[in-house]
Amino acid sequence: MDELARDFNRSTAPLKGLLGIEMKVKSPRPPRPSLWREDLLRNIHCGHCGRSYGVYAIALFCPDCGLPNLRDHFDREVELVEQQVRLAREVQDRELAYRLLGNAHEDVLTAMESFQKAVYRFLLDRRLPNRAAQLGSGKAVKNRFQNDLNATRLWANLDIDPFAGLTKDELELLRFNVGKRHVVGHNLSMSDESYAATARTEPLGRTVSIVADDVSRFAELCGRVIDGLEVELKTHCPEGG
Ligand SMILES: [Zn+2]
Repeated sequence: MDELARDFNRSTAPLKGLLGIEMKVKSPRPPRPSLWREDLLRNIHCGHCGRSYGVYAIALFCPDCGLPNLRDHFDREVELVEQQVRLAREVQDRELAYRLLGNAHEDVLTAMESFQKAVYRFLLDRRLPNRAAQLGSGKAVKNRFQNDLNATRLWANLDIDPFAGLTKDELELLRFNVGKRHVVGHNLSMSDESYAATARTEPLGRTVSIVADDVSRFAELCGRVIDGLEVELKTHCPEGG
């Protein structure tokens, strides 16, 4: 465009004094310089302003537009989970396929737990600064965000219920998947008594099933909880949102 403008101005130079024609090219805002570091493993694309940036672990807000990026982070988790599910479909070894699906299923719960923990501590610092250290301590939190009933008790400290948008059936399905995760991770994938009581088709002592649809549905339900938390973050945007 610069060259075109120069040619245009050259060709109209004789007329300049008479008509005052001149073409100027305005460059778009230059991208902000960004430093690439290898430990900034994740590259997030902000769904609000379209900027991409590298991040270590998690960033609650976009460093450019200041809006919450929790959902964008969770979507990246789901993308990785779906890639593991695809790999599971491709491998011939059934045990390896089961292991991959189990890991994908676990990653959904890990993301939901760790994202809740990060937001909970952030909101405690902002809304209850005098009690934040006590309420957000490792001892107070433990692994309580894995389970909606325990998590709800913690969120009550902030008068928030991120599970409120789920129906009774959806909550049951969420709990069922958390129970499944417990069995896969801690009971050699064999159905235990509490799991067998909720899973009519998987009797006690049998290997629990994990299918791709379980993982997708589980991720979808957890995503709804994350959406609820993103709404809470909006009231704390660094630039006012
Ligand atoms: Zn942004």
